[in-house]
Amino acid sequence: MGLNLATRLDTIHGIGPRFLARLTALHIETIEDLLWHFPFRYEDFSQIYRVSDLEPGQQATIRGTVQEIDVRRTWQKRIIIIEATIADETGTIRAVWFNQPYIKNVLRPGKLANFSGKVSVSDSEHDLYLSHPTYELVGAHDTRHTGRLVPIYPETRGLTSKGIRFLTQPILEHLPEIPDWLPVDVLAAEHLPDITTALRNVHFPAAIDDAIIAKKRFAFEDLFLLQLVNFEQKARLATERAPGIPTDIALVKRMLTQLPFALTHSQKQALWEVMQGIAKPRPMNRLLQGDVGSGKTVVAALAAILAARVGYQTTIMAPTEVLAHQHFATFQKLLAKVTAGGTPTLALVAAGDTRLLTPDGETPHATKAALMKSVKSGAVHIVIGTHALIQKSVAFKNLGLVVIDEQHRFGVDQRAALLRKTGGTLIPHFLSMSATPIPRTLMLTVFGDLDLSTITELPAGRKPITTKLVPPEDRAKTYAFIRGEIRKGRQAFVICPRIDKAAEADAAKPRQQEFLKLDMKSVKEEYEKLSQTVFPDLRVAMLHGQMKAKEKEKVMRDFHDRKSDILVSTSVIEVGVDVPNATIMMIEGSERFGLAQLYQFRGRVGRGEHQSSCMLFTDSVTAASRDRLKAIIDAKNGFELAEHDLKLRGPGEFLGEKQTGLPDVAMAGLQNPELIRASRAAAEKLLTKDPTLSRATLLRTRLAEFKKKLHVE
Ligand code: ADP
Ligand code: MG
Repeated sequence: MGLNLATRLDTIHGIGPRFLARLTALHIETIEDLLWHFPFRYEDFSQIYRVSDLEPGQQATIRGTVQEIDVRRTWQKRIIIIEATIADETGTIRAVWFNQPYIKNVLRPGKLANFSGKVSVSDSEHDLYLSHPTYELVGAHDTRHTGRLVPIYPETRGLTSKGIRFLTQPILEHLPEIPDWLPVDVLAAEHLPDITTALRNVHFPAAIDDAIIAKKRFAFEDLFLLQLVNFEQKARLATERAPGIPTDIALVKRMLTQLPFALTHSQKQALWEVMQGIAKPRPMNRLLQGDVGSGKTVVAALAAILAARVGYQTTIMAPTEVLAHQHFATFQKLLAKVTAGGTPTLALVAAGDTRLLTPDGETPHATKAALMKSVKSGAVHIVIGTHALIQKSVAFKNLGLVVIDEQHRFGVDQRAALLRKTGGTLIPHFLSMSATPIPRTLMLTVFGDLDLSTITELPAGRKPITTKLVPPEDRAKTYAFIRGEIRKGRQAFVICPRIDKAAEADAAKPRQQEFLKLDMKSVKEEYEKLSQTVFPDLRVAMLHGQMKAKEKEKVMRDFHDRKSDILVSTSVIEVGVDVPNATIMMIEGSERFGLAQLYQFRGRVGRGEHQSSCMLFTDSVTAASRDRLKAIIDAKNGFELAEHDLKLRGPGEFLGEKQTGLPDVAMAGLQNPELIRASRAAAEKLLTKDPTLSRATLLRTRLAEFKKKLHVE
């Protein structure tokens, strides 16, 4: 049969329809899909033992002849027991299975077979038997289930490892040599096997080292392709044209003296890098990283003012309404301070609200339609908003700079959608800002097409935040502490994992409902409890995603203006929110949040001159969740935490498996700095010799397929 990787499994004879359906359910439709469904471990049944050498507790393979085989039922007639006696030249042993009467039809007396399984001891203490061994008749072909290193696959949806082995082995035997898409010299330099060998060894290795090196090849291959994509992306951007936004040094210097604070050294450094980037007539593609509170916004704002000065528009997209409003307020203040030859016009485009601010002050009741017109005409220089910015109705005249705040919240597509709104023929510069520190290994791979600026220090005078894991019995003490802080004039956040337990529990099954009721703190209930029972004398407010944009904004503004003391909220306040007077962050059910998220919550406090604390409460007391939370307490900075998260939970935690489309081996490769370095060097070397890959046709095709996979969501 003329097999190749693209051959569909349903065209191959002998695969039953039920098995096919199960494969299809796992998106295994072609030979390639099947062969790239890798085992996740191997069981070593490679050595054949003699019956007389077997030891209790051992995993072993024996080869012997079936002497007898019987099927009987237990007295309740519920369980069927199959018992065979197997003999080799050194002795006999029993093998026992349950509820598989058909075995009798396969293992007929006189048949020679391999049996792999656990050697158990029966009650008599002397009598050894094999419990539920895998068996395989010894015939003409190689054994695939026993007597060797046996691949174990992820078993889901009724697909057994045995079933997969049954299919994979003959396919590998019949598959002709596959032409390798990785260049021979690359493979040779890295001491990696060719594709055909790698496939055979990943499924049916003769020795475990063969499997390891085969997997390494696949991880290397994906990283290598990823690097090619990155380099290609960079090269492509270098051929695009962007508006050069000149750095007016005198103006920048003047603005810096007008700011209410002096920029930190690394803010200046980052600002310099951004200014250099946007001054070039090629699109900048930069990530501005910096811990929560390190002051990224002002860097973006100054760049936006420079763009406005030469007539280019800037758009700033924030992940939440609250944050968009806050940015609007910040820009408003900043622009009032640093007038740059006529204050630029500023607009807010959010779902529930549009606002327009011209040099003459705020235009009352700016309608959305009027605002959009001004944006399109170029009269508005800086447009701040949420996802609402992506809508079709938003068009620009000459977009020069796109800023996305907390970009990990946005998908690739959203980012692309904004970049397309350029208005002219020029591609806007792109600046993404994130407080989620990205581990270096990921920076060099998944984010490898981005230039990086990092703000490494917090503004002077910030006190480190005290972080504690609070046992349930200290709850009353904590409330007393909060009361004391509020007496001193401070404010507190209380974060809960959900808005409303009733609504969500209703949808769940009845038994779960009971469980959830006991379990999870909700904003609404905590709000009731705190405002009526615990702190009836204090001003408690509530914030969550089901509230209208206007309500949310009012609650945030009131909290900001000290009109409330305690804000009970869901994760809507997670990113960016800035209330320097708040000193307490109390988090309920903290084990339900990711480390990065908790880190963000904590960053909401410690922004002013007062000592701040972060108190973590948990619903669960498992050691694992405690260890994880400890990482937050011990981490000196976000980067350390990021590396920790990467080790503990893998890159999926940062990227979301869905967003990358990277296969498991590549995800594992992302944790291997050595392999990353090698793949990057190899990609760079190849592109230096052959920038368009004109001499590597197969690789080019493979790369195109890889790219398609990479961005499917
Ligand atoms: P983030 O990097 O988390 O987005 P922001 O840009 O919101 O941080 O800044 C946090 C707070 O610090 C804001 O109130 C901002 O005005 C203030 N800030 C920024 N830079 C400085 C600085 N160099 N010195 C003092 N305060 C600063
Ligand atoms: Mg921010």
